[in-house]
Amino acid sequence: MYYSSGNYEAFARPRKPEGVENKTAWLVGGGLASLAGAAFLIRDGHMAGDKITILEELKLPGGALDGLNVPEKGFVIRGGRELEDHMECEWDLFRSIPSLEIEGASVLDEFRWVNKSDPNYSLQRLTQRQGQDVPDKALLTLNDKAQKDLLRMFFSTREEMENKRINEVMGEDFFKSNFWLFWRTTFAFQEWHSALELKLYLHRFTHWISSLADFSNLKFSKYNQYESFVLPLTKWLQDHGVTFRYGIKVTDVDFDIRADRKQATRIHWIENGAEGGVDLGPDDLVFITIGSLVENTDNGDHHTPAKLNEGPAPAWDLWRRIAAKDPAFGRPDVFGAHIPESKWHSATITTLDERSQIHREDRQARPVQRQGDHGRYRDGEGFQLALQLDRQPPTSLQEAAEGPDRVLVLFAVRGHAGRLREEVDAGVYGRGDHPGMALSPRRSDGGRRSNCPSSQWYSTVTFWPST
Ligand SMILES: Cc1cc2nc3c(=O)[nH]c(=O)nc-3n(C[C@H](O)[C@H](O)[C@H](O)COP(=O)(O)OP(=O)(O)OC[C@H]3O[C@@H](n4cnc5c(N)ncnc54)[C@H](O)[C@@H]3O)c2cc1C
Repeated sequence: MYYSSGNYEAFARPRKPEGVENKTAWLVGGGLASLAGAAFLIRDGHMAGDKITILEELKLPGGALDGLNVPEKGFVIRGGRELEDHMECEWDLFRSIPSLEIEGASVLDEFRWVNKSDPNYSLQRLTQRQGQDVPDKALLTLNDKAQKDLLRMFFSTREEMENKRINEVMGEDFFKSNFWLFWRTTFAFQEWHSALELKLYLHRFTHWISSLADFSNLKFSKYNQYESFVLPLTKWLQDHGVTFRYGIKVTDVDFDIRADRKQATRIHWIENGAEGGVDLGPDDLVFITIGSLVENTDNGDHHTPAKLNEGPAPAWDLWRRIAAKDPAFGRPDVFGAHIPESKWHSATITTLDERSQIHREDRQARPVQRQGDHGRYRDGEGFQLALQLDRQPPTSLQEAAEGPDRVLVLFAVRGHAGRLREEVDAGVYGRGDHPGMALSPRRSDGGRRSNCPSSQWYSTVTFWPST
């Protein structure tokens, strides 16, 4: 889709590229980037679906967009997406993908109808110290100095922010502001993360500033994004003849590198323990979108904390091997070599607690339900917990299994999972608290369960890139 001064060009299809019928496409990784790439190749690039192959290490598509539906273990989502109006490629894509739930509707129609009927809004955006209000919680509380820091960063060049951490360019006043608290709990920033990344986020999400205090700008899919986006997109691709090859771990890509071009000549992989691969010619296109955010995730359960898995990591290893061949392929270790500073936790908590009754009534009152209603919780220095209370269970199976009296599901992200294992070993968490979940000591003292007598807690460790 191409926007010029109006919508004249937005809905016109591109011309068929010359020679596209002779080309094939190999997409490494089966996450949203590859699925979207394949769909755009078919819809806008006029490539036949049967010329496209997706190579995925796991046994299913979707990558970071997941939703584990194993009732005896749990309903696990490693991440929930905060979506919004300006996701131009995403909405352009999903206007063309049929909904699996509503006949004749697109995924975009379905998504828009859900959010139109039940807009997101947070009544309690920030709390601190066990549920107390943050002072002036509707205000950004940026004083003159903090405003100057913010504007200086906003108008700086990329080069001025490169290789710097946020706390090297922003002062204490900025870190004390509600703006920073809003921003960091929305986007998972820490003071030691990349200044350039914060600058780019400020540009990308400037229009969120007016709704930072109530999240009224956010939009959510009805279920987790695996069900709401990945399944319909995968079906559309399969219907168009795209080949999905699961259980293929790509280990390297050879290139013929010249001054004016780089031509991939072979993809190497391991399948069922055996080495394999494919030789490539000038008509073979290769797209490598191997993500990284959920690489080496580990799941905990009722009795076991999630473990930190530092490697081997196929996505990072592949990128490092490719990057060693030419500087143009980037510097993976800027992002991947800081595990202690970039790891984090997420958890879903399912509860039948009567004290969640208010949410149950709320759910029953609404004909359309979905995920939403965020709160952000902070307790003590360096500890933030993002909580998402959903009117809608994150999976359709759960909804079907539990019926109208279903449980409340709470999704939580702890920004920095720094010393969790040590905290668990040191007995910081009260008996019965799930060690994979990062509750503050004050909320779990004396062996009391915090607020979920019949809860199920699941946790994961994921890595968030930082420079
Ligand atoms: C907790 C969390 C919260 C998020 N919140 C938001 C949000 O609010 N809004 C938003 O827009 N985005 C959000 N994101 C980011 C968004 O989910 C990701 O950017 C997006 O899903 C990445 O898609 P991808 O296809 O690039 O990578 P991935 O989804 O990571 O997919 C990469 C795929 O490549 C495969 N792979 C890796 N290495 C190899 C190999 N060597 N061989 C074969 N296959 C391989 C992996 O198994 C994986 O399936 C969030 C992410 C997380 C984890």
